[in-house]
Amino acid sequence: MGIPYGRHYIDEEDIKAVNEVLRSDALTAGKRTFKFERSFARYVKAKYAVSMSSATAALHAACFVAGIHEGDEVITTPITFPATANAILYNGGRPVFADIDPVTYNIEPNKIRELITKKTKAILPVHFTGQPCDMDEIMKIAKENDLVVIQDAAHALGATYKGKMIGSIPDMTVFSFHPVKHITTGEGGMITTNNSAFYEKLLSFRSHGMLHDVRRMQKNEGGWYYEQQMLGFNYRMNEFQAALGTSQLKKIDLFLKRRLEIIQKYNEAFKNNEEIITPVISKKYTNTWHLYAIQLKTKNRKEVYDKMVEAGINVNVHYIPVYKHPYYQNIGYKDVCCENAEQFYQRELTLPVFYQLTDEQQDFIIKTINSILSE
Ligand SMILES: *Cc1c(COP(=O)(O)O)cnc(C)c1O
Repeated sequence: MGIPYGRHYIDEEDIKAVNEVLRSDALTAGKRTFKFERSFARYVKAKYAVSMSSATAALHAACFVAGIHEGDEVITTPITFPATANAILYNGGRPVFADIDPVTYNIEPNKIRELITKKTKAILPVHFTGQPCDMDEIMKIAKENDLVVIQDAAHALGATYKGKMIGSIPDMTVFSFHPVKHITTGEGGMITTNNSAFYEKLLSFRSHGMLHDVRRMQKNEGGWYYEQQMLGFNYRMNEFQAALGTSQLKKIDLFLKRRLEIIQKYNEAFKNNEEIITPVISKKYTNTWHLYAIQLKTKNRKEVYDKMVEAGINVNVHYIPVYKHPYYQNIGYKDVCCENAEQFYQRELTLPVFYQLTDEQQDFIIKTINSILSE
């Protein structure tokens, strides 16, 4: 077993909420889904929220409604989970990887600028570990070049950028409810937006591209009648996932507070450790710390990783630069090299952070890594 790097937290309230749905009449896409969307939108201060079966589905949907087509380019970061870039490919677009800032590990706006061409349609920044990207610069670049901005906020529920909630900044923001993320629905995702046209399209895309709204149908043959007006998918979240999501969202402040405590304790413990580069805690932004990502200055990462796992601490590595995966290498990314991203990947190690991590466990993690690094 050992200590995982991330873990969900489910309490009796959550279980009760799910049980209630199982005894009810509606199991999918009903009033509980809508309720979760409303409370989520309120929390991130967005006008609209659309739930999806996963963040991957949500990224697919966001790229679709942003109008990404065959041959369009979307600029994103290599330091992310492949789903971010895959969503561009699903729509026939081409991910273009901009290097990261070596201090924040987020996509670097100047690198975005250098990569803009006539084919660029959107920017897809990732708020890595929960630390917001430089959104003022990104929005400025988007405005100057008429680009859509889709934020991958799978790590960043609850984060703020200069006082604004992540999720309230245009154009669309995607969240994940995978069990290692801040709140969970088992599997699940959400898109927030303030744009009503995007909102309508997202609803339709989520459900086969169909609509029942008489005002928007080309004709109406009767009460049974609906129209498929575009090619959509079944990306709906079900009612017990949504009930769990609503119940989990009530605990978000507790979850975020505990994560911050854990991160502060790690940073304090490693403050004088010559071997560890700790993440910066910015004053401008609030990071919500999905991950605690450190870099090892000189020690061999694989050796440290193996020894930690051997000691029962399931550290992890985030992320392999996306274009390094064989699939991407085979579709034309062999010559891509983002130097900061590659150096970061070589040195990175993710230590456990989750709500129920105990002080004793964290002390053990700190003691173990310090002793491995001083060998
Ligand atoms: C988890 C994650 C995703 C995918 O989320 P799912 O809900 O599992 O589809 C996408 N991007 C990032 C950055 C993630 O961490």
